[in-house]
Order: sequence, then structure tokens, then C-alpha cells
Amino acid sequence: MAQATGARDAGFEVRLTAAGRAPDSEPRIPTGLKVLNADFVTSAVRADDIPRDDLARIALVGRSNVGKSSLINALCRAKIARTSAAPGKTRLVNFYRVTIEGGSGGPGRWSAYLVDLPGYGYARGGAGAAAELAAVSEAYFADCAAGRAAFTAGTLLLVDSRHPGLAADRDAAAWLNGLGAAFHLVATKIDKLTRSERGRNLRDLETTFGMAPLPVSAASGEGMDGLWRTIARLAKSAA
Ligand code: GDP
Repeated sequence: MAQATGARDAGFEVRLTAAGRAPDSEPRIPTGLKVLNADFVTSAVRADDIPRDDLARIALVGRSNVGKSSLINALCRAKIARTSAAPGKTRLVNFYRVTIEGGSGGPGRWSAYLVDLPGYGYARGGAGAAAELAAVSEAYFADCAAGRAAFTAGTLLLVDSRHPGLAADRDAAAWLNGLGAAFHLVATKIDKLTRSERGRNLRDLETTFGMAPLPVSAASGEGMDGLWRTIARLAKSAA
């Protein structure tokens, strides 16, 4: 399971060691935002396992291998999410708690959960994706809607920038819309595209999903500031 190592009480400035080693290419440091603590909290199999406190939650949804774990690690500057696990791995909802100083809205300490929902896309095609997402992810959103735990402050739909408009991703967007979960679109692995591919694919994504994607790269750190700003805005507006 993911390890609770990381940036505890360290913040971005401190170089991490061992499992929490900072990547070679240093992600840029978001102005005025400091990660004080980032920890794996729990994996939920059923609704009953979902934490019952009132921290804001930011859900991350995406195809298996889209780069969700890498993105969580890059955001937190710590290796708290396990990457590159075999497709077909357990269908768990993983909760990571982050404690942040500052960010959008000015100074002040705040905490939130980054909620890693199960990847989809093992089965080919859209309908398969919906079925794969259904059980525990629906329990997560239902739990929020029922007010048994804190609401979902926001949802990020992660799509691979190299493959705009995949049926599985369109299906996931429709599924989220059906649940009433408004989402922000995040285009991962943007470092893998040439300049012209980048322009074309981002336009394709915007046409397909009806919103501009935020291009990010866990490898280069591109987009981390923007993503933290979005997360901070969502979490703080929910508080
Ligand atoms: P997950 O299944 O969505 O959690 O995906 P992972 O985070 O495990 O990433 C899947 C693969 O994509 C791994 O081999 C990662 O190293 C790679 N990867 C993830 N994010 C990036 C990125 O931003 N750039 C590049 N070049 N590779 C990435």
C-alpha cells in the first residue's frame, strides 16, 4: 500500500530523501503556497470505510495509467501514491490528506483530502468504463451527496493529453455529469507532446469536453501551480 512518507512539516523548500526523494527536474514552487504535510490516510473499499470528518475533498478520476498517482506525488513533492501498479489492481478509493499554508485567497493553513478514485479503462470502450467506475466510486459520491461525510469540494477528470477524446474518458465525463459532479479537466503527460501536437490535442480536448483543459506534467512540473490554485479555490470555497 502507499506509504505515509513525505513532506511532513517540511514544505516545498526542503529536499526530500529516500522514498520521498524529490524528482530530478524540480517542479516549480507555487507562489505563496507551501505543502506542510502530505500523507496517505486510508483505502476505502466500501462507503463505510470513507473518512467521516469534514475536510474538503478533491476527487481525482481518470483512466488507469493516466498518471494519477504520479500527479499526486508531484503535487505533494513526496512519494505517497504508488505508481505504475499493474492494471486490474484493486478497486479502492485512496485518501491522501494534505495540509497547506497559503494559496489562493491569501495566507492561512488549510487541509483537504485528495481522493484517488479507481482507474477505469481495463475493459475496452465506454460502457465498460462506466461499469468499472460504478461501485465504490458511486458510493463515494453518494456518501458526499447524502451529507454523511463532507461534500465533495471538487472533481478533477484526468485525461492523457496524447489521446484526446477517448470513448472511456467521454463516458467518464458523462458519468460524472450524471452524478451531478461538476469537474475540471486536466490533461496529463503534456511533456510527451511536441508543440504542434500540444496545440492540436488541447483544442481537441476542449471541443470534446466543452471546457479548456489544464495541461500538466508530473515529469516536468508544468501546471502544478495552476492545479494547486484550482485545488485551493475549490477547497476553500467548500470550507
Ligand atoms: P495511474 O495508474 O493513473 O496512477 O498512473 P501512474 O502515475 O502510475 O503513471 C503511469 C505511467 O505514466 C508511469 O510509467 C509514469 O511514470 C508515467 N507518467 C505519469 N505521469 C507522467 C508525466 O507527467 N510525464 C511522463 N513522461 N510520464 C508520466
